[in-house]
Amino acid sequence: MKIICIGRNYIDHAKELNNPVPSEPVFFMKPETALLKNNRDFFYPGFSNDIHHEVELVVRINKIGVHIQEKFAHTYYDEIGLGIDFTARDLQAKQKKKGLPWEIAKAFDYSAPISKFISKTELGDLNHLQLSLKKNGNLVQNGSTADMIFSIDKIIAYVSQYVSFKIGDLIYTGTPAGVGPVKIGDQLTGYIDDREMFSFKIK
Ligand code: MG
Repeated sequence: MKIICIGRNYIDHAKELNNPVPSEPVFFMKPETALLKNNRDFFYPGFSNDIHHEVELVVRINKIGVHIQEKFAHTYYDEIGLGIDFTARDLQAKQKKKGLPWEIAKAFDYSAPISKFISKTELGDLNHLQLSLKKNGNLVQNGSTADMIFSIDKIIAYVSQYVSFKIGDLIYTGTPAGVGPVKIGDQLTGYIDDREMFSFKIK
């Protein structure tokens, strides 16, 4: 399986990092080895001094597809989760400055914590979900999927022009504003609406 991540999909987050608002989705990938499941601890890696949390709605692909039309995209997923796109912001800044790829800052081991998945029918309107993140009990990120620049279905249509989807692939759909650093000892807890989706520690 692979993990597709969308960058700059919320205007307020693009602005907080002084990035232009994109006219087409920006995507990058993480490998399967990035996954961190079952609320396991995240061990702060030695190569960075500025790991940031980015809480994101995650879509699980349920069938093979390529060149998927937007109007059919909703038939390619039926489960939704919540994840974090951990980013080594210091390494990313160096790469950005040189115009180089971001993998070193994004694709490292356990950089993609993922929650359990729940049926999309249970969630109701996917275009009006509240996703939020608490750090040590304090709300640090809070956004609505209504503010996504590119909807889930648009993302699937766009990405599948270039990359085929397979069963079990995950799409991290971008983060709202409020990204920030984590440190050893922090507890991160993520929610979709009022549902607690994950809670784990930084060690
Ligand atoms: Mg992200």
